[in-house]
Amino acid sequence: MRVIDCPCGHRLEGKDDEELFRLAREHVDRDHPEMQRTDEELRQRIAADGRDG
Ligand SMILES: [Zn+2]
Repeated sequence: MRVIDCPCGHRLEGKDDEELFRLAREHVDRDHPEMQRTDEELRQRIAADGRDG
């Protein structure tokens, strides 16, 4: 599994970075719309901070 922790404390887990991206996209859109993260920013965040869990 690939894991990334949102700054709010919510943990996202996916089978690969692509699933992690989809989950992060949904989570940010639902819980943090004020962040206005682009898809590219989310992918960069996952590439930098995602880890094996
Ligand atoms: Zn969050």
